Amino acid sequence: MLNALYQQCKLCPRKCGVNRYEKTGFCKAYAMPKVGRAALHFWEEPCISGTNGSGTVFFSGCTLRCCYCQNYNLSRGNEGVVIDEKQLYKVFLKLQSEGAHNINLVTAEHYAPSVKVAVTEAKKEGLTIPVILNSSGYVSLDTLELLKDVIDIYLVDFKYMDSELSKMYSFAEDYPLITWKALEKMVKHKPKVIFDENGIMQSGVIVRHLCLPGHTKDSKKVIKQVFKKYKDSIVLSIMSQYTPMGKSKFENLDRKLSEEEYNDIIDYCINLGIEDAYIQEGEAASESFIPVFDGSH
Ligand code: SF4
Repeated sequence: MLNALYQQCKLCPRKCGVNRYEKTGFCKAYAMPKVGRAALHFWEEPCISGTNGSGTVFFSGCTLRCCYCQNYNLSRGNEGVVIDEKQLYKVFLKLQSEGAHNINLVTAEHYAPSVKVAVTEAKKEGLTIPVILNSSGYVSLDTLELLKDVIDIYLVDFKYMDSELSKMYSFAEDYPLITWKALEKMVKHKPKVIFDENGIMQSGVIVRHLCLPGHTKDSKKVIKQVFKKYKDSIVLSIMSQYTPMGKSKFENLDRKLSEEEYNDIIDYCINLGIEDAYIQEGEAASESFIPVFDGSH
């Protein structure tokens, strides 16, 4: 029984060991999946959102809880409604029937056993669109192995290369190492980026980097290391949309990324030889892109 994995939870690198049927660990999630929102979402990369939207399921709780989180109410506030695996697979099928290009599981790793059961069931019942693991990158290799057969696309953050930063902002000094290993495994699972005739991604890995104000140096380190190793076998997405949420105690995080900072990073990418990557216009840094997590599904 996969659900036994919730009883002494070691699903993520925190390895809390708690029985999630009785209490919560660092992620603040009990064993039953809690969903903040499930709907068509149009603000992912174009190869994910396409014209119809991405069938996005936002899960409640998080194994990182970054102090600047753009989905703060979801990751910290634990907003959402509890649903069982049967309801979850029906949500996937409903999103497909609404025209979604894919099922986009946002920070689902701490519910991996339920996700595996629900996707497997949904596939038996006719789910054919690709399934995306939309991950913070702070994910254990065992959990990736568990989900391997049900995931088509990895949409993974690479937030920091500096462990001091990951410790300070995300309580995870080991983030760079963990994410580096996780990325290695993801690329091993999906070594080739595949698009359909309309340019919608069907398989592969997208590495996202959200540029933080005041940390262009670390952004460059992340981009350099990832590009040098993976070149065109992954898609890079360099994001400028950082939105201050007013929850962090760090002064430099109280502002948006400046145009100069972002341009500096993009120039660096060009000098590195990156020819193909997603970049964002300044308007992307707006709270209007942050959905309401009212449990609707
Ligand atoms: S998934 Fe949650 S409870 Fe389990 S080890 Fe990670 S933080 Fe702890």
